[in-house]
Amino acid sequence: MTRRCDTMRRVSVLITNIGEMVTNAPGDAAGAAGPVAAAGSAAGLVAAAGSAAGPVAAGGSAAGPVAAAGSAAGPFATLSSAALVLDGGLVAWTGPASKAPDADEVVDAAGRAVLPGFVDSHAHLVFAGERGAEFAARMAGQPYRAGGIASTVVATRAASDEVLRANLARLAREMLAQGTTTFECKSGYGLTVADEARSLALAAEVTPEVTYLGAHVVPPEFGSDAAGYVDLVCGDMLAACAPLARWVDVFCERGAFGADEARAVLAAGESAGLCARVHANQLGPGPGVQVAVAAGAASADHCTFLSEADVDALASSGGTVATLLPGVEFSTRQP
Ligand SMILES: [Zn+2]
Repeated sequence: MTRRCDTMRRVSVLITNIGEMVTNAPGDAAGAAGPVAAAGSAAGLVAAAGSAAGPVAAGGSAAGPVAAAGSAAGPFATLSSAALVLDGGLVAWTGPASKAPDADEVVDAAGRAVLPGFVDSHAHLVFAGERGAEFAARMAGQPYRAGGIASTVVATRAASDEVLRANLARLAREMLAQGTTTFECKSGYGLTVADEARSLALAAEVTPEVTYLGAHVVPPEFGSDAAGYVDLVCGDMLAACAPLARWVDVFCERGAFGADEARAVLAAGESAGLCARVHANQLGPGPGVQVAVAAGAASADHCTFLSEADVDALASSGGTVATLLPGVEFSTRQP
């Protein structure tokens, strides 16, 4: 079956009348035409924003600049009076505006600058409440544990759609203001069928990169019945959530879900048309990276504690990106 993460809107967009354009391809300085950046990495497609009110920005690959390094000119190039064409999420052409090819849609940049946008491939933006006290405790030396998620779950379930939407919109605006033009957004603080589904529906209002993270932690009402919760995540919850998401994710960690449970969640998600990503090896050594690679996941995220075998598995995976999240380590004060 066609997986949702493999599909992409096939519309070409010409952004023209660019005062100055920065690209990741030094060859562009000579006005070279041709693909300069590949999308389809951890974050999926490249997005181009063209609001009359704000800057025009073209997203780049989550994996970083694609252009060959080593040029004396550095990894970037600039073009004046430029244009670019996006086709199916890829930068298909760059060059002088006077030589731009036709496209399905045209965006007039009105002399603005255009530069590659940041891609954030791991974001939890649908939540309510705050964990300032927990943060203070961690800074005072108390270790972080996965169970801290539960306090956000309580607040998120109790919040209205309007409260969640306003918080989400505020965070999305902040990301865009800081140059992030494409971002992924996970559920994971609802943990009931209804609360996960509404989290994903809200996430879809701000990004197409929506990730079903019903397997974040086992919610308190399931007690020690992790198997029962995994059945829900792979059953009724998945059925409600899969149509709203492109990705399925699991927190494979002590205190969250083990290797067998993670494999079950990813397999069920895949069978529902979702592509895998994994929270792996954040709090300690564990099977997360191996599970991610074996499942053909787009990414193994965190990777704070890696063994040699984990590094080898990632290096030979051919497609599983190791996503490092150093900001997390600063706010959890570990390892
Ligand atoms: Zn996360």
